[in-house]
Amino acid sequence: MNQAIRDKYEVVIGLEVHAQLQTVSKIFAADSAAFGAAPNTHISPITLGHPGTLPKLNKKAVEYAIKMGLAVGSTITDYQYFDRKNYFYPDLPKGYQITQDKTPICMGGGVKVKLSTGEKTVRFHHIHLEEDAGKSLHADDSPDSLLDYNRAGTPLIEMVTEPEIKSAEEAAQFMTEVRKLVRYLQICDGNMEEGSLRCDVNISVMPVGSKVFGTKVEIKNMNSIRFIQKAIEYEIVRQIEAVEAGDKLIQETRNFDPATGRTSGMREKETMNDYRYFPEPDLVPLVISADYLQHIKAQMPALPWELFEKFTKVYGLPEYDAGVLTDSRDIAEYFEATCQFTKNYKAASNWIMGTIKSYLNDHNLSIADSIAPERLAQLIGLIDEGKVSTSTAAQQIFPSLIQDPTATPLAIAEAKNLIQQSNSDLLQTWIDETLKANPAKVQEYKKGKKGLLSMFMGEIMKKSKGAADPKATTSLLQKTLDAL
Ligand code: ADP
Ligand code: MG
Repeated sequence: MNQAIRDKYEVVIGLEVHAQLQTVSKIFAADSAAFGAAPNTHISPITLGHPGTLPKLNKKAVEYAIKMGLAVGSTITDYQYFDRKNYFYPDLPKGYQITQDKTPICMGGGVKVKLSTGEKTVRFHHIHLEEDAGKSLHADDSPDSLLDYNRAGTPLIEMVTEPEIKSAEEAAQFMTEVRKLVRYLQICDGNMEEGSLRCDVNISVMPVGSKVFGTKVEIKNMNSIRFIQKAIEYEIVRQIEAVEAGDKLIQETRNFDPATGRTSGMREKETMNDYRYFPEPDLVPLVISADYLQHIKAQMPALPWELFEKFTKVYGLPEYDAGVLTDSRDIAEYFEATCQFTKNYKAASNWIMGTIKSYLNDHNLSIADSIAPERLAQLIGLIDEGKVSTSTAAQQIFPSLIQDPTATPLAIAEAKNLIQQSNSDLLQTWIDETLKANPAKVQEYKKGKKGLLSMFMGEIMKKSKGAADPKATTSLLQKTLDAL
């Protein structure tokens, strides 16, 4: 699209993010909430809404929702009740979904996102608790739809943003931050592929400076950050072209097809059911006492931005390092644990971002499978004392430590003869022997062929079987040659 036309319009985006809470059981029943079981094995009469059954609220789900709210600075609603949202759909066995329409558990709050243009806060309108529906499966070659109710009744929080996201980049950064946060809080696994974190994208365009929003379109169930970006890019162009052509956009729900990168209409919102919300009569209101709230506050972990601040201010790391290390809670904790044993914080950061991360990636392992933080600190100590070089530590000692977590770096270095010699008597002997064995080269060197220095170094290294500390050797060799 022509940039001049594009620049005439402002994009308005609001996200409705669903996060499946990592509880053991469902939100109103004792059935397992685990993902991936054989279809229709995690269902009970309560989940299926059989007559006479009664829902009972899962306290963990409440705790997790409150944790999210506290993390993003929401106000926690002290008196809540649940509502029934009535509609017919095959994946909804009860014929209604229990949700929170009038009294969402959290109000307001926001998440800071880093953009190429600077920082900005995307605010939440609210966060509410609800139950998920089941799943309809449509096999390609069959006219039938299959139903799996395992997911019905698993707990969700729906996080609804204000309509103030301005671009695909912002939406992507926002989702990235939300995913990081739910993982830090350990309330949701953040796995978008499996659908435990997904979002509906609401998007409209309006002339720059307009006070009135354009007609919004909703793209449902996006389960990849890349697809969210693509769908937004596509919709921006489609909507602007429609407006430019004088067409009237309709408020509708659209589907994104990853194969084509396009969206297509599903149903018009105007013609949708009225949900006939009313308070859920089978559940008592939920009262959050000040004591209970305090109890949850006390369990809150350090949050990514708090750790970022700490890593830059207390440990003096560059912002880049702090960003990488706080990307996931386990890496951040590993770094902090290492800093209990070493004061060389930058070296610890380099090791974690470099050797350790690539080792873990290559072997598909997590940080828990790495060497103990204390061992890493000892390894850094060996390098700092000049006993081993960084490359020896990374290429020879680190893999051995992975193999044998009980061994210390020093023991491995000794056993493998990797300790560098900076003992000057020993170095001097190796240097003297080398120079004596190469009188012609020494003459050439004296006549100005300074490049021979590296040849001598190579010989000395060979003689020492790699144990000579290169720095100490170079300076002693230089001194010896100068004195000849
Ligand atoms: P609805 O009642 O249709 O569900 P809501 O007011 O509840 O709409 O908003 C749902 C989401 O859509 C929110 O994230 C909100 O920020 C966003 N939204 C509302 N109006 C617009 C608009 N004109 N353009 C883009 N997003 C919008
Ligand atoms: Mg809504």
